[in-house]
Amino acid sequence: MGKVYLTGAGPGDIELMTVKALRVVKEADVVIYDRLANPDILEEAKDGCEFVYVGKEDGRHIMPQDEINEVIYQNALKYENVVRLKGGDPFVFGRGGEEALYLHERDIKFEIIPGITSAISAPAYAGIPVTHRGVAVSFRVVTGHESPNKKVSQIPWNNFKTDDTIVFLMGLHNLAKISKKLQEIGKSADYPVAVISRGTTKDQSVVVGTLDTIVSKAKDVPTPALIVVGKVVLLRDQLKWFNA
Ligand code: SAH
Repeated sequence: MGKVYLTGAGPGDIELMTVKALRVVKEADVVIYDRLANPDILEEAKDGCEFVYVGKEDGRHIMPQDEINEVIYQNALKYENVVRLKGGDPFVFGRGGEEALYLHERDIKFEIIPGITSAISAPAYAGIPVTHRGVAVSFRVVTGHESPNKKVSQIPWNNFKTDDTIVFLMGLHNLAKISKKLQEIGKSADYPVAVISRGTTKDQSVVVGTLDTIVSKAKDVPTPALIVVGKVVLLRDQLKWFNA
């Protein structure tokens, strides 16, 4: 019986992968990966390493999570070193917790290798610090997958009235609803918003607007993309450095 390394691949730029992640990929007998993990990482694997794609598009699974769990488990029965490679960090909307529980219930050993999440690194590459003295004392990372029109929301919208930074992952298709909801709770129409697409990669693009304009400005943005809401967005004017 093998061990499973639930591994964060980082956000895209291969150099943002951790030394530990690189080591386990080099030692892997099998790498189980999805779309968000940079495929160049697979080139680091040894000869004979098996690759299993369990695709995931923009937060929506092509393979249901139950099946992914089972694929990981079956590989752990077969191989010594199993790497489950996930975009960003495995525990930030990566369903890594569910995969770890599934293994725990079956007595499979595992390790968690955190990764640099897109939630902070895509803003950093866009020149947007998620916290900044005098501007934002905290940041939240929120799912944008839940429709803001949902009757009973798990998202505490009423706590978003301050100027603290909000980063929405998986939210591009709900951008119009999110913008509307934030205005309903009291944010002004000219409140700053950025949409960052393919952050930290050579294809990174950044659209800056307001709650009022962002929907039309970002309508053709490719995924994966995240949304940053907050006054920190304005710092990009001076701090943009990548692809600038
Ligand atoms: N575990 C991942 C997030 C998985 S949820 C992490 O820590 O980064 C998938 C969402 O992450 C996407 O819908 C998108 O909002 C965001 N995302 C992932 N990679 C991204 C990137 N390179 N640029 C912008 N957003 C990204």
